[in-house]
Amino acid sequence: MKKYDYLIIGAGHNALICANYLAKKNKKVLILEQRSNLGGAAATEEIFPGYKFSRFSYVLSIFRQKIIDEIFPKNWHEELILYPTEPSLFIPTKKKNHYLLISNDINKTIENITQFDNNQEADNYKKFYQLLEDTAKVIEPLIDQAPIGSILQALKTAPKLRLPKQYSIAEISQLVTSSSATLLDQWLDNDILKAALSYAGTVGQLQSPYSAGSAFLQLYHVSNTLIPPNDPNSGIKYRYYPRGGMGAISNYLGKLAIKRGTEIKTNTPVHKILTNNNQIIGVQSNEEIFYANHVISNITYETTFNHLLDIPSQQLPEDFQRGLKSINYTTNCSKINLVLKGIPDFSCLSDRIDPTLNPAEKKRKACEIMHNTLIVGEHMKQLHQNYLLAEQGKLSDKPTIQMLMPSLLDDSLTPPDSNDIVALLFVEYTPYEIEGGWTQENRDAFVQTVLNRMNEYAPNFSQLVKHIDAVFPPDIEKLIGLTGGNIFQGSMSLDNISSHRPMPGYNQYKTPIKGLYSCSSANHPGGGVCGGAGRNAAQAILKDS
Ligand SMILES: Cc1cc2nc3c(=O)[nH]c(=O)nc-3n(C[C@H](O)[C@H](O)[C@H](O)COP(=O)(O)OP(=O)(O)OC[C@H]3O[C@@H](n4cnc5c(N)ncnc54)[C@H](O)[C@@H]3O)c2cc1C
Repeated sequence: MKKYDYLIIGAGHNALICANYLAKKNKKVLILEQRSNLGGAAATEEIFPGYKFSRFSYVLSIFRQKIIDEIFPKNWHEELILYPTEPSLFIPTKKKNHYLLISNDINKTIENITQFDNNQEADNYKKFYQLLEDTAKVIEPLIDQAPIGSILQALKTAPKLRLPKQYSIAEISQLVTSSSATLLDQWLDNDILKAALSYAGTVGQLQSPYSAGSAFLQLYHVSNTLIPPNDPNSGIKYRYYPRGGMGAISNYLGKLAIKRGTEIKTNTPVHKILTNNNQIIGVQSNEEIFYANHVISNITYETTFNHLLDIPSQQLPEDFQRGLKSINYTTNCSKINLVLKGIPDFSCLSDRIDPTLNPAEKKRKACEIMHNTLIVGEHMKQLHQNYLLAEQGKLSDKPTIQMLMPSLLDDSLTPPDSNDIVALLFVEYTPYEIEGGWTQENRDAFVQTVLNRMNEYAPNFSQLVKHIDAVFPPDIEKLIGLTGGNIFQGSMSLDNISSHRPMPGYNQYKTPIKGLYSCSSANHPGGGVCGGAGRNAAQAILKDS
């Protein structure tokens, strides 16, 4: 009988990071994953022969640089290739020549906003951008450690905190707790720009840009510490497509963990977490038992405590039982992965990309613009209306669509010499429960709604569609175990971040069961392919050992 120091349930990126830190300290780790591939929500799948998709998460931006510095070898970028995307956002309109490009370089963005609107708005944006940058610097040290008290306490006491002189703690704390709409209305005037920026405050969460706390989510999405591997001194922060899709980063983390002595078993679902006298003794997968005095869960608290643990949840401490009920698994998003036969002809770009160009030339031109196309609408109120509908289980006929086309840069995603395009559409607002349920008919109808919406901006869009893979919230739950389809293993609303994540009193990656820990995005700092929870959990676990 083989005994391990640590068993980890699930091989999401946080588990793989946690395993690396533990293995670095010579701990014997076994990861048990139910699926045949690594990465959980950060995985690549060849859904149609020859076409590879980042089926769930689709862009790398908030991954912690500290993790690269601490567990990656110096030459990591020779093996794990990251393509920086520039520009970072394309906001089309339905009018000819009227579109906005947000660059990773603030000076280019200023020029673009001047052309799109006017000098004053460009100046407003510059000041707003600086505020976001400064606030991100305040929040960043808090991400790289276990929670320390309330948000206000955290802001006051974070050891490396350097509050920019021009802001008080009260101002920063107001900003963190306010809504995206309140924040944006203070700084900007252009409705289309505000609508696009407010989207980040709604990603993955059943909330509106007018909900308190949406400004926090917006800020979280800009907490980008990644140093460009090929241009480390530029000071520019990019979003990246890993070559081979998001699974490339998970596979790389897996490879490092194995090299450090970790064992990984795929196709091994854990069915039970076993205890004796409130102390962990191992886990059971089918008929097989794996023994260890420590188990680390990379899956949701709901599944861990209400489905796998052999102790009934009614026997857990009362405050923990209440905490379990307080985790919010509602969601607002789905993913529609497409193969397109070519580049969509956006009406607003007809002067810049001639629709009659040959496919290869069109692709080259699209690469200068279309990495991240965002269709929100004319006003933040569009998002709000979609949110109100979703709360009633209804779907809008004007869904919000963020479309990425990683194959513009990464030729490993499509068959050789193909001009086909892999297009990944992240679509809001789609709640877990809708009127009539997610029947095949309702699924097909909603996919058609999304294609119609794209056609409004790029009239040839639906004619280009060759393959469709649509994953709705119940599919996300079923395929990778994300309860309720919530992409963060629990909403990142104000009552569920920092020391409230996953719940007050149990925010140090430990649970009431001796030897049972959690390293998933359900813990601080939260969701996204960020790795913070895996790293922080490993540090807490090693302190305990
Ligand atoms: C549609 C979608 C789009 C997203 N887009 C982005 C994006 O572009 N950028 C970004 O940064 N983030 C994005 N996210 C969020 C991000 O991907 C997740 O927050 C993150 O990957 C979660 O990582 P994790 O390691 O905490 O857990 P998970 O990725 O949830 O991994 C948990 C693992 O546990 C396994 N498992 C579950 N039950 C069992 C069991 N009983 N036994 C064994 N194994 C089990 C699962 O199969 C899975 O592999 C997206 C998420 C989704 C769903």
